[in-house]
Amino acid sequence: MWNFNYVIPTLLVLVVFMGYYYGLPRIPISINRYFVKLVAIEFVVMATDIVSTWACINYEILPIWLIYLLNEAYFVTFFFRAFMFFLFTATILKSSASTDPLKCMISHIPAIILSLVVISTPWTYWFFYIDGTGYHSGKLYNLLYTLFVAYMTGAFILILKHRVKVRRRREFVSVIWYNAILLIGIFVRYAFPKYLLMDTFCLLALIVIYLSFVNPDFFLEPRTWIFNSRALREYIGEINNKKKFTVLELVIDNYFDLRDLYGARQMNQGIDLIGSYLEETFKNVMIFYDRDGRFSILSENDFDYVSIYSSIKEIFKHRWNTDDAELYLDVRGAIIHFGDRRISLENVISILSSGYDSAAKSDGDELIVMSSDEQIKITETSEIKKILKYSIEHDQVKVFLQPIINSKSGKLEGAEALARLVDINGNIIRPDLFIPIAEKNGMINQLGNIVFEKTCKFIRDTNVDAMGLSWINVNLSPIQFMRSDIADRLVSYIKEYHIKPESIHLEITEEAMVDEALLMKQMESLMAKGFSFALDDYGKGYSNIARLKKCPFINIKLDMSIVWDYCSKPDVLIPNVVETLQKLGFSITAEGIENEQMAKSMTDIGVTFLQGYHFSRPIPMEEFVKIYSK
Ligand code: C2E
Ligand code: CA
Ligand code: CA
Repeated sequence: MWNFNYVIPTLLVLVVFMGYYYGLPRIPISINRYFVKLVAIEFVVMATDIVSTWACINYEILPIWLIYLLNEAYFVTFFFRAFMFFLFTATILKSSASTDPLKCMISHIPAIILSLVVISTPWTYWFFYIDGTGYHSGKLYNLLYTLFVAYMTGAFILILKHRVKVRRRREFVSVIWYNAILLIGIFVRYAFPKYLLMDTFCLLALIVIYLSFVNPDFFLEPRTWIFNSRALREYIGEINNKKKFTVLELVIDNYFDLRDLYGARQMNQGIDLIGSYLEETFKNVMIFYDRDGRFSILSENDFDYVSIYSSIKEIFKHRWNTDDAELYLDVRGAIIHFGDRRISLENVISILSSGYDSAAKSDGDELIVMSSDEQIKITETSEIKKILKYSIEHDQVKVFLQPIINSKSGKLEGAEALARLVDINGNIIRPDLFIPIAEKNGMINQLGNIVFEKTCKFIRDTNVDAMGLSWINVNLSPIQFMRSDIADRLVSYIKEYHIKPESIHLEITEEAMVDEALLMKQMESLMAKGFSFALDDYGKGYSNIARLKKCPFINIKLDMSIVWDYCSKPDVLIPNVVETLQKLGFSITAEGIENEQMAKSMTDIGVTFLQGYHFSRPIPMEEFVKIYSK
């Protein structure tokens, strides 16, 4: 006979869980909404399972329509539970099956059709029927298993298809795990239908989902239950590009200093107070705490952020009283509107984070407004970052060469290696866009190594002597140059490609000369390995000839700006500088030579080498070989 030993305790556990879970604050995102529904539907399935089974046992004393009704309720919710599990998996995997209304409707269809079969069963007897001997399965009953397995199969297909989209490995394992539990559940039901065990397996699946995806702790600050940065990210992820929204960002002024001053404990209490104040005062908006003294107030409607900001400023004029201290804090703000342009979630996050930075730097009296130009710039920067990272990881960084010509012979003598990135449309990205970004986020080291290595490879694989090419200049960013392992790194490439260090000249700029002691140390260790140095961009900033005397450069490159100045309006200054530098033993290169006239003026004042568009723009290595091998 029927066995209730499993399903009743399972129902009890579920009820206790519901009491606990429904009481916690939840960020309104789709996985949470679906989970709430899933738990509710699971409750109905369990309850109707128990009641309808009991009705089947007591068929003799109950009206037949009631037995039909209870069983129908059970089967219909059973089908929709399978569908909800599928939908939940689709949502986790960010599959279009959960977002595209048409696909979503199509995935409802099996559950709807089978529900119609069940509803019609009192007349057709297809799914089940009740006669004088009680409850019996109908000829279409096994479609119940087919339906469940079909939804599970759909879920596994989605898992395979979207596996790369799951960012955390743990989450990926969890999706497989709860779907596997459900599959086991349906097989157990098939093998032992009388034990009512399926619900227990569904509860286990719900627990795995809870622990891995919807645990409210993931989205809340532990003490105050204010939504955290993960909640902000997930929430924006769902409304981004669908709705307009505005974020008012608040930053506690000097957060880290004050945290040192007041101590972490009191500062945390202060943050709690502020969070609670914001939550209680401002309704119809969402409040997030984004760590490090930064709050976001998000609104999807027009809201009067100016007066909100000024009332917040006003409140901050008073002290915040915590259990054991009084905190004096000040706050700065920025306002950002989203939704006028399509923009990726990553870019929204970058814009938010630079909004905080601008607010922190402001004087605080006025609200910083992030213009859409600034937003576009931040978006471009983060696009470049992405391309940079991709290019480095997938060996897509290109190195172009620009010839350096001997002014006397007019022949090729050297070249400068210049890095290039290519975007997905095949457009070249200029180094003055990506080099500063690479310097800021540390990728310049890898990038510099790539340019250096490709130059070594070029020298090894090309008959450079036949072209008259004696050396190639490689740029070293100050950040790269200051690294203690730079000499070993460069030597390892030289050895790997069996080339002479003399064939590479390293270009550094005056920025690298700020710390003179370190500069000398680094130059000496590289020179001991056989490298030579050229000083780049001479005359661009503040240049000091006296200091140059001490530095062992072999070549000084005059920056285009002073070359152009001189060529448009000759004076005595540049010829004097050139003469002095020559006397000190440096050879001199003039950059930015764009025409015959400029080449001649520079040759006349005694410049040794010429570089510029007049001779050639920087070109791909293969093209360089083609042109100069002749
Ligand atoms: P730079 O080292 O001063 O390089 C010379 C720049 O002047 C190159 O710009 C070159 O294309 C440009 N140029 C050359 N002749 C002319 C001319 O006649 N007229 C004009 N208008 N421009 C000319 P590019 O390639 O865009 O590079 C810009 C800067 O990016 C470089 O300035 C350098 O500071 C940096 N850079 C490029 N590649 C690397 C690299 O591999 N590592 C590092 N650290 N920096 C690099
Ligand atoms: Ca250079
Ligand atoms: Ca230069």
